[in-house]
Amino acid sequence: MKFATCLNCMDGRVQLPVIYWIKENYAADYVDMIAEPGMDGILAGENHKDIESILKKIDISLKRPNLHLNIIFVAGHHDCLGNPVDDETHKRQIYIAAEKLKNLRPSVKIVGLWVSDEWKVEKITEK
Ligand SMILES: [Zn+2]
Repeated sequence: MKFATCLNCMDGRVQLPVIYWIKENYAADYVDMIAEPGMDGILAGENHKDIESILKKIDISLKRPNLHLNIIFVAGHHDCLGNPVDDETHKRQIYIAAEKLKNLRPSVKIVGLWVSDEWKVEKITEK
């Protein structure tokens, strides 16, 4: 029984594709999902209060040292209402978010995911 953590948008269209992709491509049985509207934009932004509250949730999820794969996924997606920027900007924000998280939790592997206009998930960065 292995867990991974995912920082995702709250958009109902992206939950299942991202969970299935993580289970298929990594040895995760369960995905702890932390969801905010426009998660990639929040993580790439400058509002430290928002990021602090997300970090608290991450640390709860990581409190399973023997059961956690020690991987955090960060996902952004096409047509995001919470973060209405173009796809290229989303991808740039996912890179920035992954970099920032790696600096904040260096012992954890960070994987950035993009969900396309066809709701296909692809890995765009790994740190
Ligand atoms: Zn969204």
